[in-house]
Amino acid sequence: MTKLIDDPILLTKKLIGFRSITPDDGGSLKFIASFVEQLGFQTNIFTTQGVTNLFARWSPKSGHKRTLAFNGHVDVVPPGKESLWDSNPFIGDIRNERIFGRGSVDMKSSVAAYLIALKEAIKEEELNCSFVLLITSDEEGDAEFGTKELLKWVVKNKEVVDDCLVGEPTCSKLVGDTIKIGRRGSLSGFIVCKGKQGHIAYPEKAVNPVEALIDFLGKLKSLKLDDGSEFFEPSSLNISTIDTNNEALNVIPADCRANFNVRFNDQHSSSSLVKKLEMLVSDYNEGSNATLEMNYKCSGESFLTEPGLLSDLLTTSIKETVGIDCRLSTGGGTSDARFIRDYCPVIEFGLVGDTMHQINENTKVDDIVLLKNIYRNFLKNYNKEFLK
Ligand SMILES: [Zn+2]
Repeated sequence: MTKLIDDPILLTKKLIGFRSITPDDGGSLKFIASFVEQLGFQTNIFTTQGVTNLFARWSPKSGHKRTLAFNGHVDVVPPGKESLWDSNPFIGDIRNERIFGRGSVDMKSSVAAYLIALKEAIKEEELNCSFVLLITSDEEGDAEFGTKELLKWVVKNKEVVDDCLVGEPTCSKLVGDTIKIGRRGSLSGFIVCKGKQGHIAYPEKAVNPVEALIDFLGKLKSLKLDDGSEFFEPSSLNISTIDTNNEALNVIPADCRANFNVRFNDQHSSSSLVKKLEMLVSDYNEGSNATLEMNYKCSGESFLTEPGLLSDLLTTSIKETVGIDCRLSTGGGTSDARFIRDYCPVIEFGLVGDTMHQINENTKVDDIVLLKNIYRNFLKNYNKEFLK
């Protein structure tokens, strides 16, 4: 049996060494499974549609009162042109007190920090709680067969999970400054504007879909969604592309397309937004010679875990460890927490996210230790809460 690593920096380096580009786990889940088996976890690795996931549970011999899950991913986005990196993205090179590599921020470091925190808790505490790991290799991709499958597995096998912590990067400047208690929803819209093709010198004989679409996009952009709510910033709608694929200079094209995305707060659902947008489309079509059609794709509804026990325990643990009063946020993109919120209360806490997905992704090695210490303290406080 190999000796267990007990330094979160070395464990991060080890995990970065697995070339685990979505949805390939690169062998990292097997390594994590054998790591936690040595701590007494029961593990189960299973593959769905080419995606490998790990479920693991540790319970005290005397039984447990409550289960805390940790959700994370070992997959990473592609490194891009590797020659642009100052060191191999799958080595975890440590220089200037920073560790460089794909996944050093998002999020092999927080998986490593949590595993070491768990190892210490199991060795040092009298535990009354059970710990579950939900680790996937499909978070950065479509996320269809990752955490969603893990949760289906939980239900199918009658496993119980009471609370969940997700290790995504959440902090903005300092480790401990931000935890996420919810996320905005994401709705994409795909517009096709149909006109009538014609000679550009005779615009009166054509219907210009480019100009009609520009006009409509102006109305779309000035649509008032909301002013924000107690825990959410105002929703925002942004246009991502306008295309005609028209290479001729003397032709008014037959159609034109545009895409947009709405990041929406708890004042809306995807269906209430679609309703609103459809009204705008039908109003526009009534007064225009061009015809608009809109399709939609929702990749997550907005959600909120109301501040309460879970966020209080984490807030206290952060304050005790690093002396920071953390902010409760719902900003940023979507994460797998959007699936977990249907099962149990979920909050997210991880590193400072400023270099994630970039060339030379890196984090301060001290930050990984701080994160481990906060997780460690959180495990202690969580357990203490249910020892009562
Ligand atoms: Zn991530």
